[in-house]
Amino acid sequence: MKIGICAFSATLMLLLNGCGTEHQKNDEAKVIPQLKNKLADTHSSTDLKNKARAKLNCKMIKVLLHPLPHELELSGKTHCVSPQACSLEIGSLSIQELLFVEDFKARWMKRFGAELEAGKAGKLHIVAGIVKKNKSLQEAGKKGVLDLKRLADRPNPEQAYSIVTNQSNGNLNVYLAANESSGLYYALRMFEQLVLASSRKQEVAVPEVRIIDWPDIKARGLWGGVGRKFAFEGDSELSEFGGLTLNEVNFALYPTISRDMSFRLGVDNSRFERGRRHNVNIVPRVSHMEHLLKRPGLFFGDFPELRAKGKDGGGMNRFWCYAHPNSQLLLDRFYEGIARKVESNQFCIWPTESRPPNGEGPCFCPACKGDARAYFTNEIKHIIHAWRKAQAIRPSLKLTLITSQGTYPYNDDILKLIPKEVRIDLYGGSGPGNTYINEINKQLLAGYPVAKWRQQGYRIGVVPIFALSCDGAARAMLFPFMTPSLVKMRMMEFVDKGLEAVMAWLPFDSFNTAAMAEFAWNAHGRTPEEFAVSWAAQKRLKSPALAGKIICMLERPAVALSMNMRARTMIRCVQSLAFRMNGQKAPWSPRYDMLRGFEARIQLDGSGRTVHEEVVHMLKTCHDAIKLCRKVDDEELTTGALLLTQWITVIENYTAFLKHQQDPKLAKKFKADISPLIAELPKRWETWIATLDLNKRLLKASRLDFAKVMKEFNQQTDAGEKELVTE
Ligand SMILES: [Zn+2]
Repeated sequence: MKIGICAFSATLMLLLNGCGTEHQKNDEAKVIPQLKNKLADTHSSTDLKNKARAKLNCKMIKVLLHPLPHELELSGKTHCVSPQACSLEIGSLSIQELLFVEDFKARWMKRFGAELEAGKAGKLHIVAGIVKKNKSLQEAGKKGVLDLKRLADRPNPEQAYSIVTNQSNGNLNVYLAANESSGLYYALRMFEQLVLASSRKQEVAVPEVRIIDWPDIKARGLWGGVGRKFAFEGDSELSEFGGLTLNEVNFALYPTISRDMSFRLGVDNSRFERGRRHNVNIVPRVSHMEHLLKRPGLFFGDFPELRAKGKDGGGMNRFWCYAHPNSQLLLDRFYEGIARKVESNQFCIWPTESRPPNGEGPCFCPACKGDARAYFTNEIKHIIHAWRKAQAIRPSLKLTLITSQGTYPYNDDILKLIPKEVRIDLYGGSGPGNTYINEINKQLLAGYPVAKWRQQGYRIGVVPIFALSCDGAARAMLFPFMTPSLVKMRMMEFVDKGLEAVMAWLPFDSFNTAAMAEFAWNAHGRTPEEFAVSWAAQKRLKSPALAGKIICMLERPAVALSMNMRARTMIRCVQSLAFRMNGQKAPWSPRYDMLRGFEARIQLDGSGRTVHEEVVHMLKTCHDAIKLCRKVDDEELTTGALLLTQWITVIENYTAFLKHQQDPKLAKKFKADISPLIAELPKRWETWIATLDLNKRLLKASRLDFAKVMKEFNQQTDAGEKELVTE
């Protein structure tokens, strides 16, 4: 079959012309403004039309790629061949690399119904491999087709790859070159995206392309469990995760050691193997140190003598006494068990997260003397000692150490004790150094001297929450579309500060996870709206440009709402409204005041609006978004917009009440109006969440108890009503 140049593929045509109304065509044109005009001009010459088409083709392919490659050149020409005329040459590969290729070939077979022939035959000839082991790639480098020097000196070179097409003797060669196996994995996945974006049903279409790409951040991943459940057991989840370019997920390990020092470590070792198959590093982690001694029968709970001695001589439930000789012995045994039984080369541990009360303690035995600094430094010494002993058994066992709100005042002291090869992920759950912070107007790591530590040669990562209302433990999602601007802002900070790892709390749904993956790979590439457009295009929405616009309109109210409200705190937030409307002060911290997020937004923008004006403005934006949703006709988008609109309507009613509370008639009206508005929320939330492709196990575990919220809210308002009556 002769190689032809396809001006357009079916997919691209669909994206361009699939929308029926003139309105939607105009929306598409926002992505590609001048080109659309050129195409509409029937008087232009064929040549001009071809040029315009080529440019349009480039734009359309680019929008479908995830994440956006750092260096991407498309000529606009696409070569089409029969699936029977394609071949693949791989050179020498490791077993791991061969598995990547096998999976790639299986997906190819499924899509095109024909095997990729081995060897050099074929009109389309793909050469995929590791440069140092592949002569064809080396030759392409010598001829200047591939820039192997640039490929080799990219950041995170083990994950970098290059894809270059080259015509020779009437055939098309495609080179997928990588320095190491991870890079090969990404080269194969990106090439697949390029082909799928362009191909018709019975034809393989390959756009002429030149890519050199690498990730900004080395380790990009999620906390992979809901409680004790690990959410990435299945191949399909791991394949999706790896395909998004995320490469690390950790899970909670629940070891126990009983008094006879017998060690039990329930772990299914096959999960590490399954992860590796999709280029995902699955890492076991153990709970915070002070959780280990806490309960008899759990972890190391059968060793009460190792617990800290309280000031009054009684045992302190959770903390350790590191002066006790058996404390080191126990940890050594534990790490030994990891080294012998867990088939992972990385292991993650958390120091104590609780702060000893009043900055002293927690152990007041004659050796510890209530010295909190010594407590945390001794803990690190214990951990490092045990890990070194484990390395004697398994030399490849690497350690990730996570800081905590407990270690925060002593981080400089503990860093001095940590070897430079250990990765240190910064985490703080509350107080100064909080990486779960809910405000968007701050640099997340302002409280950490990252530059100094990086200069000293430490490997630094971070554990943030990106979807603000996503509850860390339960993963419940209250609001849609919270991430693109926030994640980009955070990732730019992390990349600029030279962080090596981002391990986020995030519900594993398509939008948020894709946003995290996009900006962890290429933080300075797309704008938040460009990302949203790309997500919508990949989802094959009717009008990606319009969908992207709607998502960015909705992010603002979503972030304002979620700034103080997480799944665990929603009941109190909603109850606070009821208290306030009854003229009472809520008996808990003002951080449950729902208006804080809106106040923060006003401060951030410097708009000078009152809270009520801000909320009215957001409500208008929500209504505008709903109108636009009709043109996109996507359930996730529409139900998400309706949910946010309902919430903002509740808040608008509340701020109107506050504004008019001196007027008894008006105040009574707003008070009467709010209950039915709130009663509508659960249904709206259920409808929206049902449209998400969230992992089912996660969804089940994260179901919010809206019934409880409503019951408590109604009880509160009823009580208020009664009081009013008795007055
Ligand atoms: Zn002690």
